[in-house]
Amino acid sequence: MPEKRKIAILGSTGSIGTQALDVVRQHPDRFEVELLVARNSWKLLAEQARRYDVNAVVITDESCYKPLSEALEDTDVKVFAGMDSVCSLVTGDNIDMVVAAMVGFSGLKPTLAAIGAGKPIALANKETLVAAGSIVMSRAREAGVPILPVDSEHSAIFQCLLGAVGNHIRKLHITASGGPFRTWEKDRIAQATKAEALRHPNWDMGAKITIDSATMMNKGFEVIEASWLFDVGPDRINVVVHPESIVHSMVEFDDGAVIAQLGHPDMREPIQLALSFPERLSLDNRKLDFATLGSLTFSEPDRDKFPCLSLAFEAMSRGGNIPCALNAANEAAVKAFLEDRIGFYDIAAVARACMDGVSFIGEPSLEDIFATNDEVYRRASEMTLKRDFRW
Ligand code: MG
Repeated sequence: MPEKRKIAILGSTGSIGTQALDVVRQHPDRFEVELLVARNSWKLLAEQARRYDVNAVVITDESCYKPLSEALEDTDVKVFAGMDSVCSLVTGDNIDMVVAAMVGFSGLKPTLAAIGAGKPIALANKETLVAAGSIVMSRAREAGVPILPVDSEHSAIFQCLLGAVGNHIRKLHITASGGPFRTWEKDRIAQATKAEALRHPNWDMGAKITIDSATMMNKGFEVIEASWLFDVGPDRINVVVHPESIVHSMVEFDDGAVIAQLGHPDMREPIQLALSFPERLSLDNRKLDFATLGSLTFSEPDRDKFPCLSLAFEAMSRGGNIPCALNAANEAAVKAFLEDRIGFYDIAAVARACMDGVSFIGEPSLEDIFATNDEVYRRASEMTLKRDFRW
């Protein structure tokens, strides 16, 4: 019997975190949860801590520390608060692997701390690579730490590349469902409400990523993420709309052969593979039945209706701190959209203004990345408050 993998889940109360725990629940002989981290959902975090008998929990919003520690008073779970606690606990000897599933830029610091301590990363937090791809990848290389993709598209590419070592990749084809507005006219999308944008056709995810899917910024971020993970330039990454979400992505080699990975949309599949790799374990998911599957369709994304996709390609081509600026602008703008303060296309307008306004840094240090993030987030938030989308 292999030893149990002891894992830390950063963002355990979110969509990826809860599904990661479901994977653990199905394989109690293989995984053990040591550390859970949440931002402010202290009730669910306390429930999870009891259910999975974890060693420690951290709530990053310090105002939730008191109710959380009271809720766990009668247990021996250690309770901590704040980001510094996360950064120090992920480095502990009791942890074999870290699931990085926090939302947005906030995932960067603890992920770097875990990499520094040599912990393999199951990466769901794509903003970490969007904002600081060169730093994260070079530190992971230096530390000899594997970064296992949890995003379904990147897990698919990772799987397509197993056994392809040494062969040149001609193209990566990243599939996109197209989101809830794929078939809408542009005028109608412009009036889209928060509720409409939150209705994703195929994937059940958190609010931030669901809005990013509706704007297709998520797909743009995935292109940037893929570029870092697989060392393939933007000119060799193709986005293809595939509304059925059965083909999770594809790799094309120089001889024209295309390898694809298929399955019904279920995030537990890539999560479990990242946790158990190189082994594949059983999973109680829905299996493909080709006789009833029907047709799979593919088409070009509409860049006029979804300008965020082009913004992400442009950010990656310009490089330096521009993807970080794009990410910060998007975080502030999506927050404003979710608070009904700006319209759907204003998200792209804020991103455009910030990408053009921020001072370019070609080879940003980690300090430069934090400074860019802070400045752009602040400026973008001001734009959304004034409803004036100029730098
Ligand atoms: Mg994805």
